[in-house]
Amino acid sequence: MIELQHITKVYRMGNVEVAALRGVSLSVETGEMTAIMGASGSGKSTLMNILGCLDVPTSGAYLLEGEDVGKLGDDRLAGIRNRKIGFVFQTYNLLPRLSALANVELPLLYGNGSNRRRRALDALERVGLGDRVHHKPTELSGGQQQRVGIARALVKDPSLLLADEPTGNLDSQSSDEIVSILTDLNREQGLTVVVITHEPDIAAATSRVVTLRDGLVVEDRIQAGARQELVRG
Ligand code: ADP
Ligand code: MG
Repeated sequence: MIELQHITKVYRMGNVEVAALRGVSLSVETGEMTAIMGASGSGKSTLMNILGCLDVPTSGAYLLEGEDVGKLGDDRLAGIRNRKIGFVFQTYNLLPRLSALANVELPLLYGNGSNRRRRALDALERVGLGDRVHHKPTELSGGQQQRVGIARALVKDPSLLLADEPTGNLDSQSSDEIVSILTDLNREQGLTVVVITHEPDIAAATSRVVTLRDGLVVEDRIQAGARQELVRG
């Protein structure tokens, strides 16, 4: 699904260059669930932006489902992003005046609108919020808001779900719920998931943990089997 070949990313600020990624090679298979860990400043968000086609590498190649996305212009990159990738954010990024349902429908506004409502309801049901679809974000708990965020990411049926610190603002119980939803989507529905996290609990729930330090992969650990027990605690 994902193949990164010696990816570098250099930010230029005036005369100063910051090498955020210094040669990252990584493959992720379809159906894997991978955690990306590392200290602040290690390059996690830069890597996520590249994986999500929000930014392009300075050098190296990024193949997404076989397509070399590093060579595409902004329009085609945006097209791939819209078709293939769902994003989940630490702060949910919901529109406060809209209901859960309307928030989840938003990504479908520019497409074929005929079954928009049905698809949004389905996505909300997949995250266990079928009974809260008319609530606004302020009428939902943090964990419920993040479930709306996940439903919004799912509504276009992406092949890859990217989550940047999805439980960073949540208490531990809500956090466990979100981790369960992500692992269920991965395990039961075969969705490929990449999640950035500082939290060992989340990393323990994934089948693979990639650790970054100073823009390089310093550890890449497969952990078969352990996840289900740890998630269910
Ligand atoms: P993390 O998400 O692991 O905290 P980042 O990917 O955000 O790390 O940042 C990696 C390095 O790149 C840091 O030194 C950061 O200051 C630098 N950096 C990130 N984004 C930019 C940017 N837009 N312009 C300049 N430097 C940046
Ligand atoms: Mg970051």
